[in-house]
Amino acid sequence: MEININEAVISLVVGDITKEKTDVIVNAANSGLRGGGGVDGAIHRAAGPSIMAECRQIGYCPAGQAVVTTAGNLQAKYVIHTVGPVYRGGTKGEDRLLESAYRESLEQAVRKKAASISFPAISAGVYGYPLREAARIALKTTIDFVKENQRIELVRFVLFSRDVYDAFEEELKKLV
Ligand code: ADP
Repeated sequence: MEININEAVISLVVGDITKEKTDVIVNAANSGLRGGGGVDGAIHRAAGPSIMAECRQIGYCPAGQAVVTTAGNLQAKYVIHTVGPVYRGGTKGEDRLLESAYRESLEQAVRKKAASISFPAISAGVYGYPLREAARIALKTTIDFVKENQRIELVRFVLFSRDVYDAFEEELKKLV
């Protein structure tokens, strides 16, 4: 599914984010920027060791924030590592932190003069965020951002399985 917001395109696809050709690929990292399982592990494996060296230099990223590295062997120009919240019942400010993770990633992309960016479903894996809620926050934050920022031309949500895609599609239909 694809929608237009002003001049920008927001697109939902099923796929592996490491194959993306957008200027930026967003990683769902942990605060220690140490790599790990899920999409984080996949991005580091595909990118090679240079971005892990940059992550070690940076050292830390709190939940809701984002840091930038180059993209090693990936086709993207940059990897933006953002840290989503671990879901602990929804009463610990998880919604604001997840919104901030998307917004800060988009801000960093604009700072790097990127025109296109790919996101995974941040916090929706091991971090346990309920899928529908995570999808709604991802899409709402992105739509609001591209309405205000002309530089971003393409935002792709690269979703690893059909059930994640279906959740994003249903939530996107509700928002437009
Ligand atoms: P978090 O710790 O933020 O929950 P995970 O990596 O556990 O992050 O999961 C986030 C989402 O990324 C999940 O929907 C998972 O299925 C998905 N995912 C895992 N590998 C990839 C990949 N190569 N490309 C895109 N999405 C992926």
